Amino acid sequence: MPDDKPTILVTGGGGYIGSHTVRLLKDAGYEVVILDNLIYGHRDIVENVLQVELIVGDISDRALLDQLFATHSITAVMHFAAYAYVGESVKSPAKYYRNNVAGTLTLLEAMLAASVKNIVFSSTCATYGVPQVVPVPEDHPQSPINPYGKSKLMVEQILADFQTAYGLKYICFRYFNAAGADPEARMGEDHTPETHLIPLILLTTLGQQKYVSIFGTDYPTPDGTCIRDYIHVVDLANAHLLGLEYLLDTGKSDVFNLGNSNGFSIKQVIEAVQEVTGKSIEIRYGDRRPGDAPTLVGSSDKAMKVLGWKHQYPELKTIISHAWNWHQKRQGQK
Ligand code: UDP
Repeated sequence: MPDDKPTILVTGGGGYIGSHTVRLLKDAGYEVVILDNLIYGHRDIVENVLQVELIVGDISDRALLDQLFATHSITAVMHFAAYAYVGESVKSPAKYYRNNVAGTLTLLEAMLAASVKNIVFSSTCATYGVPQVVPVPEDHPQSPINPYGKSKLMVEQILADFQTAYGLKYICFRYFNAAGADPEARMGEDHTPETHLIPLILLTTLGQQKYVSIFGTDYPTPDGTCIRDYIHVVDLANAHLLGLEYLLDTGKSDVFNLGNSNGFSIKQVIEAVQEVTGKSIEIRYGDRRPGDAPTLVGSSDKAMKVLGWKHQYPELKTIISHAWNWHQKRQGQK
């Protein structure tokens, strides 16, 4: 392992996308320190799979951050820590603005105080709102329709202002729908509560819940259900490494979509899961979930062109089958 690789602070490194990225960072020879309050992050994954230093604490704890930066020579921060439930953000916006915006502001101020000026930030396609064109390019107007998307857009704006005023450099990644699991089934999507579509269908397949609800069947899409762009979590993680290298090599800030440029309706996803698992599940049709855009599909041409990013697992069925393997292993069926 080269000994000249920098040390990266990963906030939310015990969470879904963070943990997959930490694994790749480690494999690439980076030193990694994770800051995670473990509300949604998993200690067992950090300790047993990733085996990197874990500092248990919050991004809004300025004293802890100052101590962390004083005792570690951090070159860049990868900032995953956030609340990310669209539906919850509509019901509890204060929680989202407090953590995602105010917490990030505390982190950024602590970084600047310690002269750490590079950050890779997890933003979201939810910052676009209801797209006027699909696939959505990065220069599409941003007009989020839920507090989660608004909280992430606010941070994007803060980053731009901090670049102008303080010389902070950033890469913002606007994720479409992260899905799938580690191809070797060491890690996967494990939220409590689980609200995301693919894991909920798989949990239903495994008998952990009775049926899957489809939230809304009257959207302006071919089958009336919402269309999303599902992107393999390992592909997302790979883009983070490329983004980090780009930031450290060029010192240029930029914004990239990360998706598959390919949309699937909820009904299509359920069909694909039934094909991959060979099992059928009960479906119930429910009301729309507040805060949902009808269609979110992103163009990732820019990340491919500028960062040289390539999808390793673009097929929906591969994404589902990796998630399926991991869910079965977790439930002790494999
Ligand atoms: N969805 C659904 N039933 C569920 C969970 C999600 O119909 O039990 C829908 C949700 O309304 C959205 C899509 O599936 O249109 C993807 O939702 P998810 O929560 O997985 O990701 P999000 O798009 O919110 O990031």
